[in-house]
Amino acid sequence: MTAPLVLVLNCGSSSIKFAVINTATGEQPLQGIAERLATQDAQLILKIAGDRSQSALPGADHATAMQAIVRHLEASPGIAGRLVAVGHRVVHGGEYFSDSVVVDAGVLEKIRECGKLAPLHNYANLTGIEAAQQAFPDLPHTAVFDTAFHQSMPQRAYLYPLPYDLYEQWHVRRYGFHGTSFRFVAQQAARWLEKPLEDTALVIAHLGNGASVAAVRGGRSLDTSMGMTPNEGVVHGTRCGSIDPSIHAYLAEKLGLDIQAVTDLLWTQSGLLGLSGISNDCRAIEQAAAEGVTRAKLALEIYSYRLAKEIAALMVPLGRLDALVFTGGIGENSSLIRASVVAQLGYLGLTLDPEQNLRCTRGTAGPITAVGSSTALVLPTNEEWLIAQDAAAVAGLSVAA
Ligand code: ADP
Repeated sequence: MTAPLVLVLNCGSSSIKFAVINTATGEQPLQGIAERLATQDAQLILKIAGDRSQSALPGADHATAMQAIVRHLEASPGIAGRLVAVGHRVVHGGEYFSDSVVVDAGVLEKIRECGKLAPLHNYANLTGIEAAQQAFPDLPHTAVFDTAFHQSMPQRAYLYPLPYDLYEQWHVRRYGFHGTSFRFVAQQAARWLEKPLEDTALVIAHLGNGASVAAVRGGRSLDTSMGMTPNEGVVHGTRCGSIDPSIHAYLAEKLGLDIQAVTDLLWTQSGLLGLSGISNDCRAIEQAAAEGVTRAKLALEIYSYRLAKEIAALMVPLGRLDALVFTGGIGENSSLIRASVVAQLGYLGLTLDPEQNLRCTRGTAGPITAVGSSTALVLPTNEEWLIAQDAAAVAGLSVAA
C-alpha cells in the first residue's frame, strides 16, 4: 500500500507555511511558504523534491494563496490524489483541548473563543482552516494545538497568584506553548536515552524566535516557562519574557503611552533585539559579539543567564534529570549559547564536550556532554511530522507504508 500523505498547514497573520508529509517515512515531497499576504509583495516560495521556485502573488490574501497552493498540489503527479487529511497547527486551545481533534463547527467556535487569549495567532489559524476547508472540502481537517501538551500541568504550576475569580471568570492562567515540539522532542530523547518515554525526566529548551522551557516527566508536561501568552519566561527574539509587571504602568506614565502601546513595546522591541539594539536574530548578534560589540555580548550573556536560571527552576517539579535537551533554531545551532548555559549548570552534573557541541549543528543530533557527565542533548524538532501523525491518527487513517 502507498503511504498516505498529509498536508500540514501553519497559518500566521501574513503567511501560510505548508508541507506535504509522508506519514510513514516523514519525507516532505513538497513544502513552501506563501508570505507577505495581503500586500503587493505577496509571494509563493515552493520546494518540490529539493527544487526551489518563487512566484509573485501581488495582493493575494489567505484564500487566494491557498488556491495557488492547491493548483501546485494538483499539478504534482506524486501528490495529487494521495492526500488523505489536512493537519492545522493552532496556537491556543485554552482549557478545551488536551489532544488533537477533527475540526467541526463546535471546534471552530472554541478556537474562535480562544482567540481572545491569542489574538495574533488564533484568528490567523482560523482564516487558514476556513480557506483550506474550501479548497479541500472532501478531506478531514484536524487541529493540533500548541497548548494541548501542557494541559497535564497541575494547578500549582498553572495558577497565578492573582484573585482566584480571574481564573474562573477570565481564564487567566498559564497555558504554555511549543507543545507539539516538546512532545516530539521528548519522544526522540527517550530513543537516545534508550528508555521508555514513561521513565524519562527531561528539561527541554525550545529556542526559536520565541523560546520556552518545559519540565517533561514520563512524556507529560509538569511545568513550562511560557504563560498565558507566549511572552512569559526566558528572553525571546523581540519579546521581553518575564519582567516585573509594574514596569507596564511605569512606562505608560513616563513615556505617555497607552497600555496597548506599552504591550507592543514589550512584544516587538524587547528581548534580544531590545538588548542588543542590532537584531532579533541570534546569528547577527553572535557575529557582532565576535567583533567586540559590547551590547551584543551583553544580550547573549543575559539570554544564557536567564535560560540557565529557568532550567534550574524547572528542576523543582522534575526532581531528577535524565537529559537537558536543546531544540529550535538557536538550540539546534548555537554552540555558543549551549556552552554558556551548560557551564552555568555544573551543579546539575553537566560538563560540556566542546567538540561534540561544535559538531551538533544544522540538523546533527547527539549528546554534547563529556563522558561521566549528566546528559545534554541536541535534538532537531519536527513539529510538522507530529502534526501529520496526529492528523492521520485522529482522522482514523492507517499509516502503513
Ligand atoms: P521560529 O521560532 O520562527 O520557528 P527558529 O526555530 O527557526 O524560529 O529559530 C530562529 C532563530 O535561530 C534565530 O534567532 C536564528 O538566528 C537562530 N539560528 C539559526 N541558525 C543559527 C546559528 N547557526 N547560530 C546561531 N543562531 C542560529
